[in-house]
Amino acid sequence: MTEPQPILQLKQVSQEYGSGERRFLAVDNVELTLKEGEYVALLGPSGCGKSTLLRIIAGLQSATRGEVLYRGEHLRGVNPYTTIVFQTFALFPWLTVLENVNLALQAKGIPLENRAVEAIDRVGLDGFESAYPRELSGGMRQKVGFARAIVSEPELLCLDEPFSALDVLSAESLRRDLLELWNEGLIPTKAILMVSHNIEEAVFMADRIVVMDKNPGRIVADLTIPLAHPRQRKSTEFQALVDQVYATMAGQTQPEHLEVGTAPGEPGLTRSLPTVVINDLAGLLEALLHEPEFQADIYRLASDLQLNSDQLLSLVEAAELLGFATVKEGDIVLTPLGETFAEASILARKEIFATRIRRLPIFKWIMALLRAADQQRLGWDVILAALGLEFPPQEAERQLDLIVDWGRYAELLVYDDDTAILQLEAPQPA
Ligand code: ADP
Ligand code: MG
Repeated sequence: MTEPQPILQLKQVSQEYGSGERRFLAVDNVELTLKEGEYVALLGPSGCGKSTLLRIIAGLQSATRGEVLYRGEHLRGVNPYTTIVFQTFALFPWLTVLENVNLALQAKGIPLENRAVEAIDRVGLDGFESAYPRELSGGMRQKVGFARAIVSEPELLCLDEPFSALDVLSAESLRRDLLELWNEGLIPTKAILMVSHNIEEAVFMADRIVVMDKNPGRIVADLTIPLAHPRQRKSTEFQALVDQVYATMAGQTQPEHLEVGTAPGEPGLTRSLPTVVINDLAGLLEALLHEPEFQADIYRLASDLQLNSDQLLSLVEAAELLGFATVKEGDIVLTPLGETFAEASILARKEIFATRIRRLPIFKWIMALLRAADQQRLGWDVILAALGLEFPPQEAERQLDLIVDWGRYAELLVYDDDTAILQLEAPQPA
């Protein structure tokens, strides 16, 4: 077998922005090689230079230093072999789906023929050629975005957080559509580079995950994801890889089960959730963004934020439990994951938060309980009774309040205050 050929090589690529005193190093000495057949995900906190790298690769800007080789040749000007799909694809509202897709061909001087119709068909929008963007859902509009990107048959497809502006269900179905196009060879694309802030998404889709950190933007880890497709999110192998990536991003060295305890009803200590309102947690993480080195003395922070020390300690405990911060010598320090969360949009925060709490034993337990229940619903009292086997009465109630609060924020759970019924947000196969 011949070795897969490198499609793209970045050699010691650095990018500075600004001038004079404002000059700063946004990307420092990045080395990256993409080979034929690879699907690579780029993960890292916002501001670490992910979009900058995509623009350099697409030839939309040239790096301050370093070399970009495309199939061994120095890249000059716009890279004709790649296109970028953005988070929200700017469609022209006065043009139909077909006209929007054709525009990508016209821009590249490619004859129109039937390619746009085929691309629209491939993304599953057959029959919507003459619809206008306003008539489409968010997910369908992003499909037009994909059609517009694949119609010129790029060898290298770059994706900049392409699913993060979509609701959970549309995002998931679009992910599966893209994987099908890629894995079944239905598009002539030779490699995919996808920027993501979502670790499960990266493990679900990519063969390799490149982790970046910032100040300055650089690559800190390069992990292989050796799972066959289709991947099972709930499988042990999948979860172990998600853990590994989280540990890399959170800078953790301890196995997570030591920190998070066991589920109710299992041997071992059930770790309770700290009493924390998610908005306060977000406030704490945001405050840390403004501290030098993202680090602050815990007690000084308490007085700055006008919190009493109990409140602050609960917040710190929650931040540690979720991998957003670590504590050392009386200081709290943001992890790269915590930075990512603090800087993310509300939707992205919910996603990150959901992936974090889904891994806590007490949430695994409640999710499993609901999945197994009749119609996947349970009354407050029933759950409270179950928690009562583990916790003293007042504490059981407090824990259930927290489960509902956190689960609602993460859009994993729905609770109806009138009927006192808790259920899963998205119905799951039993
Ligand atoms: P990411 O996509 O990982 O969030 P970006 O590549 O957008 O990161 O940005 C990296 C850093 O460079 C950030 O600090 C950002 O503010 C800065 N930056 C990006 N583009 C420009 C620009 N055109 N001019 C000045 N600074 C920029
Ligand atoms: Mg970006």
